[in-house]
Amino acid sequence: MPESIAEAVARRRTFAIISHPDAGKTTLTEKLLLFGGAIQLAGEVKAKKDKIQTRSDWMKIERERGISVVTSVMTFEYGDHVFNLLDTPGHEDFADDTYRTLTAVDAAVMVIDAAKGIEPRTLKLFEVCRLRDIPIVTFVNKMDREARNPFEILDEVEEKLALDTAPMTWPIGQGKSFAGTYHLSRNAVRGSDSETDLTQVNGPEAALAAGRLPENERETFIEEASLAIEACRPFNLEAFREGHLTPVYFGSALRNYGVRDLIEALGSFAPQPRAQVADVRTVEATDDKMTAFVFKIQANMDPNHRDRIAFVRVCSGKLERGMKARLSRTGKPMGLTAPQFFFASQRQIADTAFAGDVVGIPNHGTLRIGDTLTEGEELVFQGVPNFAPEILRRVRLGDAMKAKKLKEALQQMAEEGVVQLFTPEDGSPAIVGVVGALQLDVLKERLSVEYGLPVSFEMSRFSMCRWISADSKTELERFVDRHRGDIARDLDGDPVFMAADGFSLNYEAERYPDIKMVAIKEYH
Ligand code: GDP
Repeated sequence: MPESIAEAVARRRTFAIISHPDAGKTTLTEKLLLFGGAIQLAGEVKAKKDKIQTRSDWMKIERERGISVVTSVMTFEYGDHVFNLLDTPGHEDFADDTYRTLTAVDAAVMVIDAAKGIEPRTLKLFEVCRLRDIPIVTFVNKMDREARNPFEILDEVEEKLALDTAPMTWPIGQGKSFAGTYHLSRNAVRGSDSETDLTQVNGPEAALAAGRLPENERETFIEEASLAIEACRPFNLEAFREGHLTPVYFGSALRNYGVRDLIEALGSFAPQPRAQVADVRTVEATDDKMTAFVFKIQANMDPNHRDRIAFVRVCSGKLERGMKARLSRTGKPMGLTAPQFFFASQRQIADTAFAGDVVGIPNHGTLRIGDTLTEGEELVFQGVPNFAPEILRRVRLGDAMKAKKLKEALQQMAEEGVVQLFTPEDGSPAIVGVVGALQLDVLKERLSVEYGLPVSFEMSRFSMCRWISADSKTELERFVDRHRGDIARDLDGDPVFMAADGFSLNYEAERYPDIKMVAIKEYH
């Protein structure tokens, strides 16, 4: 019997890992894929990244600065579940990309370095998850090294994030003597991740059988684990799903502890694909007609073919290879001839995909970030955000003959979400906007390598911009008329007001109270 849509949806878990750089996201990703059987050897994730980097020039930036700027997806199976892990760039200059990726997940794993606790970037990403009520599972990593006391870590999560915690496991020792995890409510033990099954025990003391901990550390463990059972908040599924409580797991991704606990937790209680809000209705994951939205475009995944992959999250129904979809923005049909799944070391044609799955759709510019695909229904998903850039620059081209080529290239870069492009109403040259300065470096490198366009950037007289709208069309037109030199259109043709600084922005906002000025635009 083929799997029903409801059954397929129930098996899916789509999540991202949020963390501060160096907390162990890459290592944990490798281990998850390893347990999921997606790769043979841990280390391949990095190896693959390196391979792409050496072959693709624009990624030199990434290599030089030792950061990951690439978002991608990895699909793997464990037990009965299909996991889609969406990777997010570690560097904050690519925050907009990360935020968009988080619109496509149903849960997040928050990795914390056991010695460092909550770090700035973790906090920021957590706030984004909270805005969207994304449930969070916490993984306290690096327990094999000098670590803070577990109670202290739990307190810090509660205080800094205003998030309830429920320790699910308790570390058996820490640092050199770290020897596994004790499952508080299940009264069971797992040594390293090579133990596929939990061993049932009778209380914390029994958890130390098999000489798991040096004599002088046993007392502390028994006391603390007993206290955790008595005094810590128990896990509550509803509070977790609503984003008010995080279950906490301890481990060491590098030394293979606690990762299996984590993956099993995601399977057991991370939510299955959620309903998604569209303009005309809420789409249930189990609806039988296919719907999906694009949250990311990536070029040059394979430098041998200059392809452009749109990453779509399926929201309902069954996406089948060869099907005809309707692209909501244009109303035109689009054949999905070669949708792809991504595994750690390979891509594979996706014959069928269900809600929660993320597939790559190769295209030559037809698809843009925020686009909705359906089986014909006129429907547009809400909520993929676009952030007002914090840096605005004019692009200066050495060779004026190539102006047309530059225009095309910028349009493509903007469609991929590398930069935002603003075309001033008064006919002056285009302005590019980015959220982080590194994005300008990526733009420069790609224009040079891929289009043979050496460019430099010039300050513009503007430093801020806001999308503008008004209930009354005439009000908006009046505003646009009076500020023609400060108005530009974005890629969708929506009007943007540009200002030299916050002062003049506020001044105009006060003078024209009927004009709405927003810093975040949701794609539509
Ligand atoms: P990312 O920047 O969050 O992706 O972090 P990485 O996974 O690259 O890890 C950063 C560093 O911490 C690397 O040197 C890892 O080998 C190391 N690391 C990761 N997990 C652990 C762990 O559980 N224990 C120890 N001791 N080191 C770890």
